[in-house]
Amino acid sequence: MVNFYIGIDFGTSGARSITINPEGTVVAETQFPFPPLTDSSEYVSLWKTALFTVIQEIPVNVRRQIQRIVINGTSATVLLCDPQGIPVDSPILYNDSRGATVLELLKKISPPDHCVISATSSLAKLIWWLTVKKIDIQQQLGCLYFLHQADWLAFLLHGKLGISDYHNSLKLGYDVENFAYPHWLINSLKSLINLDRLKLPDVVSPGTPIATITPEIAEQLQLPKTCKVCAGTTDSIAAFLASGANVPGEAVTSLGSTLVLKLLSKTPVNNIKYGIYSHRLGDLWLTGGASNTGGAVLRQFFSDLELETFSRQINPNNNSHLHYYPLIKKGERFPINNPELLPTLEPRPDNPVEFLQGLLESMAKIEAQGYQLLQQLGATPLTQVYTAGGGAQNSTWTAIRQRYLNAPIVQPIHTEAAYGSALLALKKVKNEA
Ligand code: ADP
Repeated sequence: MVNFYIGIDFGTSGARSITINPEGTVVAETQFPFPPLTDSSEYVSLWKTALFTVIQEIPVNVRRQIQRIVINGTSATVLLCDPQGIPVDSPILYNDSRGATVLELLKKISPPDHCVISATSSLAKLIWWLTVKKIDIQQQLGCLYFLHQADWLAFLLHGKLGISDYHNSLKLGYDVENFAYPHWLINSLKSLINLDRLKLPDVVSPGTPIATITPEIAEQLQLPKTCKVCAGTTDSIAAFLASGANVPGEAVTSLGSTLVLKLLSKTPVNNIKYGIYSHRLGDLWLTGGASNTGGAVLRQFFSDLELETFSRQINPNNNSHLHYYPLIKKGERFPINNPELLPTLEPRPDNPVEFLQGLLESMAKIEAQGYQLLQQLGATPLTQVYTAGGGAQNSTWTAIRQRYLNAPIVQPIHTEAAYGSALLALKKVKNEA
C-alpha cells in the first residue's frame, strides 16, 4: 500500500488534479476545462462538477490510496453562503472590479497602503455585498459564511464550513504577522452588520489537515475514509511552490502574458505604490510584483512560431543597444510606478530578428530592475531564479536574461499549480510558522 497525495488547482480556465507519491513523482493527472459561461450563477454547479470529475477520473487503484487532498483556488474569488454551505448570491470572481464602488470606504477603514485597498480585493467584495447589494443578513436562516473559492470546494469534501488559510485570507485583511483579524477590520465590519450573523473564516496555515472527508464523499468518490482534506492556498502561490523554490533568495519569474516576479525572503516587503505585498510562507515571506510588460507585447508583433525561429537567429551575447519599454498600453506599476508611462518601441529596425532582440533585452532589464527594487526595499538577496510561463522555453531569452540577472537561472521540473498543492498535501513545503 502506497500513500498518494492530490493537489487540485482551480485556475481561471479550468480545474486540474495532480496526484503524487511520497517521493513527489506524478502518478496521475486529470483536467476539466471550463466552458465559456455567460451567467455567474452557473459557476457554483460548474465548480462542483469540475471538482468531482477531476477526482473521479483518477484511476481507481490510485484513488483508493489517497491520504491527503489540498485545493488551491483563484485568489480573491469569493462566496457568501448559508449555514448549509449553499451560496446566497452568485460568487464574485477574482477579476471582478465591482468593489471600485466601495474603494473610498475601504480607504477610510483600512490602514494606509494596505493590500485590501483594491477594487478586486476579497474585502472590497464582502463590503460590496454588505453595503451595495445589501444582502439582508437578518432575513437569512441563521448566519452567513464568507468563504474563498478554495474554502468552499474543500467544504464540499469535508463538510466543515468557515475555515480558510492565510494565503487566501490576506486580501480579506487577515493579519498574517499576528495570526488574527485586526481590530480595524472587526470594528468596521461591526459598524456595518451584526457580527454574530456574519462568520469570517477561522484561518489556519495552508496545508493544515482540517478534517477527513465525509463518509458519503468517501463512498461516492471511492476515496479511503481516512483521507484528509487540508487547508488550501491560492493559484499563484501553488505555482510558486511547484517550482521547488523553498530557500530565502530563491525566486520564480513568470514569463506569461505579463511579467510576474516572486522572491522568497526572510523579511516581508510591502509597498502599495509598486503593488508589492508579501504572503507568509511558514517563517518566510513570499514577496513580489507584476509588470505590465511581457509576452502579450511579443504577441502583438510575432506569432509563437516566429518567436521560436527568430529567437534562434539571435546571438544572446551581443547587445542590441535598443532601449525599449514594451507595453501594450499606457501605464506601469512595477518596477516603475507611473500610470502615464507610454510604451517605448522605437526605433524599430527593419530586421524583425533585431527588433525581437531589443524587446527580449528590454524585458530582461525590467526583470532585473524588479528584483533590484525588491532587494532595495529589504527582501533577501536573490540567489537563484526559476522560470515559468510561455517564455520559459525560450533558451535565447534565458541566455539574454542571464546577462542582466546576478543569479543563475534554473529550469524547474514542475510549474503546474496543481503540483504545488500536491506538495503542500505531502508536506514537502516548509510552511509551519
Ligand atoms: P498566460 O498564462 O499569462 O496567458 P502563458 O504562460 O501561457 O501566459 O504564456 C503565453 C505567452 O508566452 C504569450 O504571450 C507568448 O507571447 C509568450 N511566448 C510563447 N512562446 C514564446 C517564445 N518562444 N518566446 C517568448 N515568449 C513566448
